[in-house]
Amino acid sequence: MNAEIIAVGSELLTPDRLDTNSLFLTGRLSMLGIRVSRKTIVGDQPGDIRDAFSEALHRAEVVISTGGLGPTLDDQTREAVSGLLGLALKLDQETLQHIRERFKRMSRAMPEINIRQAMVPEGAEILPNPRGTAPGLWLEPRGRRIILLPGPPNEMEGMFEQEVVRRLARRGAGIRLVKCEIRVTGMGESHLEEIIAPIYSSYPNVETTILAGQGEIQIHPRMWSADAEAARHILDELTAKIEVALGDHIFSSVGETFENVVAKALTANHATIATAESCTGGLVAERLTRVPGSSAYFISGVVCYSNEAKTALADVSPAMIATRGSVSSEVAIAMAEGIRRRSKATLGIGITGIAGPGGGTPEKPVGMVHIAFADENNTRESRFVFPGDRERVRWQASQVALDWVRRYFLPGSCGVN
Ligand code: ATP
Ligand code: MG
Repeated sequence: MNAEIIAVGSELLTPDRLDTNSLFLTGRLSMLGIRVSRKTIVGDQPGDIRDAFSEALHRAEVVISTGGLGPTLDDQTREAVSGLLGLALKLDQETLQHIRERFKRMSRAMPEINIRQAMVPEGAEILPNPRGTAPGLWLEPRGRRIILLPGPPNEMEGMFEQEVVRRLARRGAGIRLVKCEIRVTGMGESHLEEIIAPIYSSYPNVETTILAGQGEIQIHPRMWSADAEAARHILDELTAKIEVALGDHIFSSVGETFENVVAKALTANHATIATAESCTGGLVAERLTRVPGSSAYFISGVVCYSNEAKTALADVSPAMIATRGSVSSEVAIAMAEGIRRRSKATLGIGITGIAGPGGGTPEKPVGMVHIAFADENNTRESRFVFPGDRERVRWQASQVALDWVRRYFLPGSCGVN
């Protein structure tokens, strides 16, 4: 079964409000085996609402809208849909009574305009709304289903769970969406695509989408099937092939966050960590402490921006800073080793670089970052020139540092090298 969602509300076409109702609906519908093929956002103009419904009804068996069922003049969904379907609106006494009682409970008189909310298109089923005044409406014109839900998210969600789910389930075909999620770091999107496209394209019944985000790429193979177990089996097989192809670039095959994976590795190995950061301003420490329970492994993090702070907080010698410069391999190494020693941590991270946009030179361009990682025996250091603006440079530096930590604990890893 195919569905479309229409979010009604002029405020959703401004920078002020985001259509979050459709996120809830797409999630719940896919669990019910109903595939959402399109969603539309439309303003409060009756003509636009009518067009949106008319077009959606040509394509989809189920059309669900949210918003525009209220009492005010800008609430036009009820009228637009009954106009489109040629259905007269009739006053429903029971609904009117419910609205009156609701106002009475709040010790207020019902404003006349609320009568509009009790106007019901001929033949519509009424979906009660215990959380608000506007009832939802269920219509079945010409074998299609139209479901009108209120806009306020709590009213919409409650009505969906209590009224819509069982009505749709009764009519559903028993097809479910089965999905998995593989997360990758340390490689570019096109490189990844080159490697895995031959694999996933040999599974034409699996819809595979690739989502590139900050520092990571997510691979989402999904499959619609009446036999969830068989679909799970196929997805597991595809996942296993992708795992072999991408190796330790994959940090999770079960949708965990990167920070969580790093945290788990540190905790499981009873390791502790301390950070000395310059250009990342504490971002590595922030990401290490995002995870509940981080006190098990995180000892301390210092932001040592000035030369004096590098000396005072991470024991970097002033002579080294004077001869090598504060953005240098030697200083990054000294920061990692210094903070590790001072904090008595198992591992230390040092980061120094030029996040930009100013401050670059031909020898030390914007985006150049030195990252060092020390354990009690060795220190690893590399110089990177990251592309992008200040935020991206900082994020990529933190990502590399944390990925070194993750890889340090992989089976077969040989220490910090
Ligand atoms: P009301 O009786 O409250 O007027 P309504 O059905 O007419 O209900 P709207 O007036 O369209 O709904 O919206 C009411 C509230 O719900 C607004 O604060 C609006 O921003 C919010 N809302 C509406 N649609 C959405 C949406 N798609 N996603 C998130 N919030 C929404
Ligand atoms: Mg309204």
